[in-house]
Amino acid sequence: MTAPEVVADLRSDTITKPTPQMRRAMVDAAVGDDVYGEDPTVAELESRVAGLLGHEAALFMPTGSMANQVGLRLHAGPGQEIITDSLAHVLRAELGAAAAYSGITTRSWVAHRGLLDVDTALEMMVPDGGPYQVSTACVVVENTHNFGGGTVQPLESMRRLREETSAVGVGVHLDGARLWNAHVATGVPLSDYGACADTVSVCLSKGLGAPVGSVLAASAERIAEAKIWRKRLGGGMRQVGLLAAAGLHALDHHVERLADDHARARRTAAALAQVAPGIVDPEAVETNILVLDVSAAGWGGPAFVEAAAQAGVLGYPTDARRARFVWHLDVDDAMTDRAVERLTDLLSRRGK
Ligand SMILES: *Cc1c(COP(=O)(O)O)cnc(C)c1O
Repeated sequence: MTAPEVVADLRSDTITKPTPQMRRAMVDAAVGDDVYGEDPTVAELESRVAGLLGHEAALFMPTGSMANQVGLRLHAGPGQEIITDSLAHVLRAELGAAAAYSGITTRSWVAHRGLLDVDTALEMMVPDGGPYQVSTACVVVENTHNFGGGTVQPLESMRRLREETSAVGVGVHLDGARLWNAHVATGVPLSDYGACADTVSVCLSKGLGAPVGSVLAASAERIAEAKIWRKRLGGGMRQVGLLAAAGLHALDHHVERLADDHARARRTAAALAQVAPGIVDPEAVETNILVLDVSAAGWGGPAFVEAAAQAGVLGYPTDARRARFVWHLDVDDAMTDRAVERLTDLLSRRGK
């Protein structure tokens, strides 16, 4: 059997390929040895991202997982805990790195669509467990929330969490892999989100379309320590201005256009909800990620993703009941139209 023609690859926003303009920016980048602190393009990217997020300093990282894990390591060491929701990327998709590298333990709560539940977080945290209970070093907030379906965390919730945790000396790490999407969807300045956390990670390699790269922002003191942990984990990179240049290009050209991805995800949700009510609330699709509860239409997540792939629309099964489709730089309106056509066809055939 020949592989079906792909009409839209919506597996993830990580799959984007650098545009010709981005490739040119990379080729022309000034470089130096960044482990010696001599790469001007990396320095430019770091100071730009620090400025956008309202933090003193920032550090370029090869991946978002490393940015998160170094960030967590600045808050917590062996035998301390971090708490977050049960679908958080740091818990589900970083392969136990907090435990494997830092000896950090975790507790989590179940959150509808990954929406930040401040009351539960405050109830669960143990600022000083003394010799009796594990002390909570840090609460992790993911904005937007990936497995939750691109959920934007309300700024007021983040602010309240920041206030209450600061008062008792508990840290906040913001996994802002897609903070750009939250910013574009709401108009909230990146620095307002940044002010709600001690450490913030952002990805350049998701919807922004860079081939590689994330950035961790924090105080100058924390970033000095982060530099040690990055090197310790094997993330000290040399003439990496070639990659930082892609990030700078993405910040110049690929942030505002995220609104197009959001609109495409939203109109797909609206069309699918019409043929299969209950699989998604289109009003809740705020950014570029569409998570469908296909069980409401009699499907399993993996079976639906398989059938969609046969119809040329690639997605990702997030669990037994759900399928995820993600919009990005390499998917346009025409591809979205075809994806909508194929997916509505699939959903209307089932159960008839
Ligand atoms: C993609 C992602 C990351 C980082 O993933 P890498 O593949 O390691 O770059 C971190 N957090 C969230 C929410 C993500 O979606």
